[in-house]
This record gives sequence, structure tokens and C-alpha cells, in this order.
Amino acid sequence: MHRTRWMGICALAVAAAVLAAPAAAQAVKVTPLGGIDGEFCAQDRALVFEDPNGTRVLYDPGRTVAGASDPRLGKIDVILVTHMHGDHVGDVHNKAPNSGSCDKPDLSVSAVPNTGAVEIALAKKAKIVTGSEMPAFFAAKLKAGGGDPANSVLARFGGSVTIGGVRIATVTALHSNGVSPDFVGGELGKAMKEAGIAGDVGLATGYVLRFSNGLVAYLSGDTGIVADQETVVRNHYHARLAVMNIGDGFTTGPVEAAYVIDQLVQPASVIPSHANEVGTVGGKARPGSKTEAFLKAVKVPAHLPLSGKTMEFDSAGKCTAGC
Ligand SMILES: [Zn+2]
Repeated sequence: MHRTRWMGICALAVAAAVLAAPAAAQAVKVTPLGGIDGEFCAQDRALVFEDPNGTRVLYDPGRTVAGASDPRLGKIDVILVTHMHGDHVGDVHNKAPNSGSCDKPDLSVSAVPNTGAVEIALAKKAKIVTGSEMPAFFAAKLKAGGGDPANSVLARFGGSVTIGGVRIATVTALHSNGVSPDFVGGELGKAMKEAGIAGDVGLATGYVLRFSNGLVAYLSGDTGIVADQETVVRNHYHARLAVMNIGDGFTTGPVEAAYVIDQLVQPASVIPSHANEVGTVGGKARPGSKTEAFLKAVKVPAHLPLSGKTMEFDSAGKCTAGC
């Protein structure tokens, strides 16, 4: 080949690569912070969403984030808590990443009365964005921990807040939302425990996030089947990626979750969550599991949240890497 022509082709190739770079950089990165690297385990809820602009959002830290010093957290700008149950807000947590096993995690570290979410928020100077009556609870905990109560931010149904270029709205989750007396403490906490009652902080929530690349993601939280999944999440927000809880008993089971995804939300991709079982062995769905039942039932492409494995999604909700 003629030398100048070859150099011309090389220059074109470089130019094409430079033009393609911003598009590739526009993906939203989703990294599960589960119990065991490469697996989907019983307590796994926590996901980190990284906007293309670098904003990092931690969803339901739960019990698998090994406290504020968990090295997997890195920078955290925003923490989302769907509701106050211990497996979401964090009552106990892993001693370190990968402590224990997938079926028997080492949850020997207590986070009461502060909650794991608040301990992480204090260490990272992150904002906690919640709906219902949860912001006042988190503001009080942040203040008690020497933090800024203004870092507890409200996004109630129908409204939204934008932090670091990520628009955050809360949506209906049909669940319960009692504050455990362990998070209240003192004489009041003791009396509540004896009476068998939990504190009232309003309705549980899900979230809809809109990232700076245009991707809209629905995070179901613990929920049953609700009409809002069609009328609000699909028809209004147009969610293209969904994180759907599939564990049954406490939330939609695999069949109900597949109905929500295929019939109501209709995203381009779904990530199952909150299976309350050993969901995978060697990174593959365990035969006979609820995780496998969900993968079989759902028609939309489903991507397993394997701990530590980063997936990337484009603005249309298609997985472009790591799935
Ligand atoms: Zn739960």
C-alpha cells in the first residue's frame, strides 16, 4: 500500500476512535457490592451507580457493605434508602468483603442505633435522599453523629431532587416501613420493643433515577405489584433499566416480578435483586433457585448482579459491557 494512503487510513482510524470515545464514556456503571465476589447471595441489595460525570449513588447499603471503611465504596455522593428495614438501611453488616460464605455470611458487626446508611453518609459526607417521613429520622441521626442534618434530603412522591447531575424521584412501593426500636434506643426504644411496635416514618418507596446520559432507571425497593409501575414508572418516567426485587415472601416473587417487568414497566434490561437465597454458584444461576425461575420467566434481557462485577448501560438501557 502507498505510504501516504496508509497514513491517511491511520489518521482516519484515530479520528474515529476519538469521536467514539465520548459515546463509550457515556455509560452508567452499575457495581453490586454483595457478600461474595462474583456471586449473587442472600443478603445482596447494595448497588453503586456511577454517572458518566462521576457522581456515585449507593442504593440500599443493607448488610453486605462492610461499614463505611469498605474499600469497594470509594467516593459516595448520594445514598438512597427505600425503607427502614434492617436489611436495607443496615442493622448489622459483614466484617469485611467476602467474610463468611454465600449461604452463611459473617454479619457480626452491629450498626445500631446509627444504621449503616448513616455511618457511611457521615464518613463520605454524602447526602441521603429519601421520601415519606424518613428525612427527619436521618437528619437527627446525622446531627447526633456530628454531621450536617441538611445532608438528609427529601424527595417525596411526584417531586424530585437533582444532585451531581442525577435526578432522583421516589415512587410507590407497596410494602411496610417500620423503624426498629433498635434504631430508636433508650427508654423509648425499650418500651416500643416490649410493646412489639415499630416507629412510623410513612410509606416505603422505590426510586426513579435519571442520569446525565439520559438513562432512566427504576429501583423497585421491596414492593408488591402496583399500578404505578405502569402509569408512573413506564408511562411518565419511561424507565429503560429496572432493578427488581424477586425474593418472594417479603416482596414480589420471581413470577410476580417477571409480570411487573414484562407487562408493566417494560424496560430494555432488568437486574434482579433481593433474592434471599444463594442465587448463583460460580456466577451462574443455581438450578432450582428463585433467581433461575425469574430468569426463565422474564422476557426482557436480565443481568445477574454478581458482586464486584461492573456492568455498563447506555441511555437506552442496553448493557454495553460487563454483562
Ligand atoms: Zn427487604
